[in-house]
Amino acid sequence: MSTEQHSLIDELITFLENERDMYGPFSVNVGVKSKKTLSVPEDPKTDQQTSDASVDESADHGGSSKSDPLSLEQKLDQCTTLYELKALCETSDLLRTDMDGTNLVFGVGSPTADLMIIGEAPGYNEDQQGEPLVGAAGQLLNKILKAIQFEREEIYIANILKHRPPDNRNPLPEERKRSLPFLNRQIDLISPKVILCVGKVAGTTLLGKDDALKRMRGKFYDYRDAKLTVTYHPAALLRNSKWKRPVWEDVQQVRKMYDELGGQP
Ligand code: URA
Repeated sequence: MSTEQHSLIDELITFLENERDMYGPFSVNVGVKSKKTLSVPEDPKTDQQTSDASVDESADHGGSSKSDPLSLEQKLDQCTTLYELKALCETSDLLRTDMDGTNLVFGVGSPTADLMIIGEAPGYNEDQQGEPLVGAAGQLLNKILKAIQFEREEIYIANILKHRPPDNRNPLPEERKRSLPFLNRQIDLISPKVILCVGKVAGTTLLGKDDALKRMRGKFYDYRDAKLTVTYHPAALLRNSKWKRPVWEDVQQVRKMYDELGGQP
């Protein structure tokens, strides 16, 4: 085999490994119930979400019903901690995609973070681990964060969707719409000074307009009480390094804005 053929095969293998890290094994068991139990944190005061108290089966499903006259808005308003919001999310069918047996991927990080990163939706690894952006794209994100002097633990990471969509398809408009009130409440409870949306899905969902990423990036927008900006998704960088420079410019602007606004870990 020629050297060129060898390097082509190496590139192909790297590509497939990246895809597998992001999206899981190539044959996905759609419809098979996961063995993982949904969980809420044990200590409501910490709001860091990784423990195993199971959810009350009798709880309702996040919207209002005849036996429960509260509207979703009222229920969200009643959540005054991330712990309470997570418990509501765990029982809410509104957040589910049409893939059975997925785990809630609520969000991770400091509950008082001044920087929040918003991605698209959980993939295979995120669904398995219950944490956003942990696959290859998440690892690249960690490196990008380090380059602007942030540790993953100091910030907060969430997605537009809290459950994995089947076949890693893009979140549907109605799924994004159903998830948005929960995410907005999460944003309000964390109250970050800066929000960085990674990828077009996050940017267009929060900005409420369908625009090209290259037109959305490079600016800050007012969103809730924060300054929001948009950049390319780290998964896009793994596929094509031409996005590296714009991402580097964008994240430096994020760091600058965070410092100007007095952001604290
Ligand atoms: N995994 C996530 O949690 N979010 C993304 O946007 C992509 C992969």
